[in-house]
Amino acid sequence: LSAEAQAVVDKIEAENVDFLRLQFTDILGTVKNVSIPASQAEKAFTEGIYFDGSSIDGFVRIQESDMRLEPDASTFEILPWRKTEESAAGRLICDVFNTSTGEPFSGDPRGVLKDALERAADLGYDVNAAPEPEFFLFQEDEDGRATTKTNDAGGYFDMAPKDLASDVRRDIIFGLESMGFDIEASHHEVAEGQHEINFTYDDALATADNVATFRSVVRAIAAEHDLHATFMPKPIAKINGSGMHTHISLFKDGENAFHDDDDEFDLSETAKQFVAGILEHAPAVTAVCDPTVNSYKRLVPGYEAPVYVAWSDRNRSALIRKPAARTPAASRIEARFPDPSCNPYLAFAALIHAGLDGIEKGLECPEPVRENIYEFDEAKREEYGIDVLPGNLGEAIDALEEDEVIQDALGEHVYEKFVEAKRSEYDDYRVAVSQWELDRYLEKY
Ligand code: GLN
Ligand code: MG
Ligand code: MG
Ligand code: MG
Repeated sequence: LSAEAQAVVDKIEAENVDFLRLQFTDILGTVKNVSIPASQAEKAFTEGIYFDGSSIDGFVRIQESDMRLEPDASTFEILPWRKTEESAAGRLICDVFNTSTGEPFSGDPRGVLKDALERAADLGYDVNAAPEPEFFLFQEDEDGRATTKTNDAGGYFDMAPKDLASDVRRDIIFGLESMGFDIEASHHEVAEGQHEINFTYDDALATADNVATFRSVVRAIAAEHDLHATFMPKPIAKINGSGMHTHISLFKDGENAFHDDDDEFDLSETAKQFVAGILEHAPAVTAVCDPTVNSYKRLVPGYEAPVYVAWSDRNRSALIRKPAARTPAASRIEARFPDPSCNPYLAFAALIHAGLDGIEKGLECPEPVRENIYEFDEAKREEYGIDVLPGNLGEAIDALEEDEVIQDALGEHVYEKFVEAKRSEYDDYRVAVSQWELDRYLEKY
C-alpha cells in the first residue's frame, strides 16, 4: 500500500468506519456509489473494485460492461450524517478503469478533467478553480416530497429571523468543514429560499470533487431539517435562478499567470487570451456548463445571469467578469454562465480547454463591456459585436456539434453519449405540453 492508502486504512480502524462508499460520477453528473465493508479497504486499494458499467448512464454497451474502480486515497472523508460513537461511513472518490485494456476509461468524467489538466500542465500551468454554487431550500409535503414552497421569504444577505435557513446553513457548514472544506462565507441569496455557500479555491480536480461532495452534503443535511435542497437552475419563474459562477486562474512556477500589475485590469495577456478562448467557444461550452432544459430558463435578461457573450471588469450581466482581487495571487476570472446542474468535471474541462485554446492560438480579447448589456437593443449589440448565448438546450447542442475543440475536450466517448442523452432530453421536452400552455390556450381556443 502507498503511504497515503495506509493512512486511510489506519483512519478507518481508528474512527470505527464500518462501510466505505466508493464514488464516481456518470456523464450526466449524478454521483454513483458502491458500498463495501471496511474490511475490503486494502483490497480496494491494491486490486480495485469491479462493477458492471452497463447500467450507468452513458458508460458502456452491455457486452463490454466490466469496469474497475480505483479509489483515490487523497479523497477519503467520513460522512458527517452517518457518524456515531461506535460506527461511521467513509467515502472515497474513484477513477474508473476499463478492465479489458487496463487503461483509464474514456467515459469517466473525472478522467476527462484529468486530461484537461494534463494539457494545461504540458503548457506549464496549474489550474485553480473555485465555484459559487447557489441552491434553493424548499419545504416538503406530508409524504416527504419536495414542494416549491420556499422555506423563508428572505432576500440578499438577510439575517434571521427573515432568513430561517441560517440554522440549516450552519449545520451544512459544520458538515462540510468536518469533510475538509474551508468555508469562506455563506449568505442568503437574492431570491426567497435561495442560499449560497462559498469555499476556498483549490486545484481544479479537487474543486470538481468538492462540488460533487457539496451537492450531496447540502441535500443530506437539508433533509435532516425536513427541507428539500435543489440545485435545479430555475425552480421558480420570474425570480433569480441558481448559478454556479466558476472562478479560474492559471499558475506557472507558483506564480499567478493571470496577474499583471501594469495592466489596467491587473490581467495578464495570458488571462486575456484565456478569456478570448472562452468567449470564442461559449456557445458549445454552454451545452456542458448549462446542460438541462431548465438551465435556459435561467439564462434570460434581468436576473443577474448572463445572456450575452462578453466580458467585463465590473458588470454582472456579462458572461465573464474580472472580480476585484486583494492580492496578485487572487487575480482571476469569473465565468458566470455555469449552473449547478452541470457535471463539474466536464464543465471545468470544457472551460479549461476553451481557455487554453485561446492561449495556444493567441486569440485577441475584445474590450470589456461596462454598460448593462440587458438594456442593449439588437443594433447596439451588433455595434459592439456581442453574440447571444444559445436560447435553449437544442441550440446549445447544435453549437457543440459544430465545435471540434469542445468535442475534443470531452473526448469521443463522452461527447457522443452526452449529445445522445441531451438530444433525447430536449426532444422529450419539445413534445411535452406544459401547464403554461394549458393556462394560456385551453379555454381561449
Ligand atoms: N443567481 C444569479 C445567477 O443566476 C447570481 C446572483 C449573484 O450571485 N449575484 O447567476
Ligand atoms: Mg457569490
Ligand atoms: Mg451568488
Ligand atoms: Mg459570483
